[in-house]
Amino acid sequence: MPIYLDGHSTTPLAPESLDAMAPWWHAQAGNPHSPHLTGMLASQAVERARSDIASLVGADPQELVFTSGATEANNIAIRGTALAALEAGIDRREIVVSAIEHKSVLASAGSLRNAGFQIIEAPVDGNGVVDIPALERLVSERTLLVSVMAVNNEVGSIQPLADVVRISRAAGALVHVDAAQAVGKLDLDCAEFDLASLSSHKMYGPMGIGALFVSAASQLRPLPVLFGGSQEAGIRPGTLPTPLAVGFGMAAKVSRTRLDADAAHSRNLSALFLEELRSRQVQFVANVPEQNRVPGSLSLRFPGNEAMSVISRSGDRIAISEGSACTSGQITASHVLLHMGLTQTEASETVRLYFSRYNSEADAAEAAVVLSEIVGR
Ligand code: PMP
Repeated sequence: MPIYLDGHSTTPLAPESLDAMAPWWHAQAGNPHSPHLTGMLASQAVERARSDIASLVGADPQELVFTSGATEANNIAIRGTALAALEAGIDRREIVVSAIEHKSVLASAGSLRNAGFQIIEAPVDGNGVVDIPALERLVSERTLLVSVMAVNNEVGSIQPLADVVRISRAAGALVHVDAAQAVGKLDLDCAEFDLASLSSHKMYGPMGIGALFVSAASQLRPLPVLFGGSQEAGIRPGTLPTPLAVGFGMAAKVSRTRLDADAAHSRNLSALFLEELRSRQVQFVANVPEQNRVPGSLSLRFPGNEAMSVISRSGDRIAISEGSACTSGQITASHVLLHMGLTQTEASETVRLYFSRYNSEADAAEAAVVLSEIVGR
């Protein structure tokens, strides 16, 4: 198998999560909403998981709503909040998002134009960091919600959330943070936000589950966007997937004890990889400086080399991505790179790597060898 270096797309499942999930598929299978002992045991396992996830992000367990992932959490956060505002007669009709949000935020917000909302995009600087003075000008007493991600999924840039919170609070606007790429990578405290989206498969948990943090202190609770049973405090109906919740919970528990060690490991591997590229005189440009990016993440441009060609030529040896895996296959350049000021050509020359907990120094060195052979000097 190729060396996997695409941790922004998904991370390998932690072995601890795999083990923890095992009994819940068959031997202890039960619906956590059933009244019998089997159901109650499943329910207890789900609630333990909820507590472990809450501890990682500084939340109360009751503030977490399980979802199918961050896409669904983002949809509930944005559409559900807009619906709640309409129902409550709140007349704020503007939603401010950063220009480099994930499509699930941009598209959820965009879908509200038909309902009379205006969507305002805050620009970012050349390092992929939201422009705070510009944000300050765009957020006003007309703003219902400000949505800025914690870490960008294409370039790894860390966003200045303390400033986002300060500006939003001053205007009386709610704050939503898409934290899918930050949880498990950075120490994140959700208590500052009204809403935050989490994704299990970006932090060594299983795919197919995530959570929405809904602050108990928030003035407005989102309404559901799906209808069915009354699970998850009426915000998200549907049977909770016990094995996935348990795996997500275990991933959070492991991350909590390894946060610093994981960050140091990922930082070390990306530094080693860059050193190896330099020693081989490979020409490259890092799109985001080290101080602005999450440890282990690299958005690199190899001038004169189309990213898609680099990816396919190296594909049997390393798994890396172009700008965004979510738009792979489309010939459009990444909106994130274009908003950062890169030209179409520069954007098309950009690849994305992430060195995860399970990569080794040998992986980092080998990846540099493979790329040096492909892109030349
Ligand atoms: N937001 C961000 C920042 C992401 O990176 C992703 C996954 N690419 C999502 C949301 C969607 O997450 P999920 O796959 O859990 O739906």
